[in-house]
Amino acid sequence: MDNPRPDLKAMLPDELDDFVGELGQPTYRTRQILDWLYVKGVRDVGEMTNLSKALRDMLAQKTRITALRQVDCQESATGEAVKFLFELPTGQRIESVLIIDGDRRTVCLSSQVGCPLDCKFCATGRMGLIANLEAGQIVDQFLQVSLFARARGERVTNVVMMGMGEPLLNYDEVVRALRLMRLEEGLGLGGRKITVSTAGYLPGIRKLIAEDLNVGLAISLNATTDETREQLMPINRKYKIADLLLAAREFFDRRGYRVTFEYVLMAGLTDADEDARRLAGLIRDVPCKINLIPYNEFEDDERFRRPSRRRLEQFYRVLGELGVEFTVRESRGRDIDAACGQLYYRQEKIRR
Ligand code: SAH
Repeated sequence: MDNPRPDLKAMLPDELDDFVGELGQPTYRTRQILDWLYVKGVRDVGEMTNLSKALRDMLAQKTRITALRQVDCQESATGEAVKFLFELPTGQRIESVLIIDGDRRTVCLSSQVGCPLDCKFCATGRMGLIANLEAGQIVDQFLQVSLFARARGERVTNVVMMGMGEPLLNYDEVVRALRLMRLEEGLGLGGRKITVSTAGYLPGIRKLIAEDLNVGLAISLNATTDETREQLMPINRKYKIADLLLAAREFFDRRGYRVTFEYVLMAGLTDADEDARRLAGLIRDVPCKINLIPYNEFEDDERFRRPSRRRLEQFYRVLGELGVEFTVRESRGRDIDAACGQLYYRQEKIRR
């Protein structure tokens, strides 16, 4: 669906300056429009009451404002996660998750409908790539979840690009969305409050390192040998573990903060003592953080199982004895399929 009218919600301030300038308007209009869009959350220029009627009419004619249709909102029994299901104008659906952890409110955003990378253990991977999201659609997920939080008297504090999709394969739209979320006059999320997570698409990592944009980076390592990683993540045929370790070092040198390596623990595949030892060896000289994620099971795929409590404890112990610091992500929202790697919407139903 090609829409020739530019999306007001996806315009950066300098673009908005130019745009309102061309309409013969002063640039302070930019600030007013940003405030309406991102702080007040209006979906219709008609509601931007401090703009002149003439400007509102022109904007209505020449632009559109992306607003995803929220079709479902499910809260986990424990209150630790809320999953949102949104529908695009094409009828395709995407999911976002609000994760509640102490004072932290993290939104997990989708960057694509489905994903082309085919990681064998990931639910989204089963969908294949269906579409890239537009910047306005990424920002709008954030905006709608923020408004939900605000209505409960809470504020979103962090963003992770860890929902459906590989963000670095939808680079331009994702980076534009990140810039929009950082705007002080809008959503105002500081640099390190945003983390981009990648399966290891090296050209995208390189580009992000060079970008004039402060965001955190997480790389899904998930295995300690290229052989195993290749079986789990076909992208490893092209970009190897050694490449990712180098990229992490480069990220630290250029940006000044450490990459997080995510490591999913899968029974019999990635959870052996030997893996823990190899992991410690791999990252010995790389300034990084380690985030361990016990696998979240979905459907009845026998190949991928969560390790037993004992196995997990043992893995943690081996790492600890080798002096490796790590965090464990016990995913929230498993009961509503909102946990890490569980986002999957059966598109067949809608495509029909
Ligand atoms: N494509 C990006 C972001 C989406 S996946 C990436 O690969 O990083 C976000 C994280 O969830 C990744 O670390 C991925 O390895 C992990 N993941 C995928 N499926 C999972 C599952 N079933 N259980 C636990 N973690 C999973």
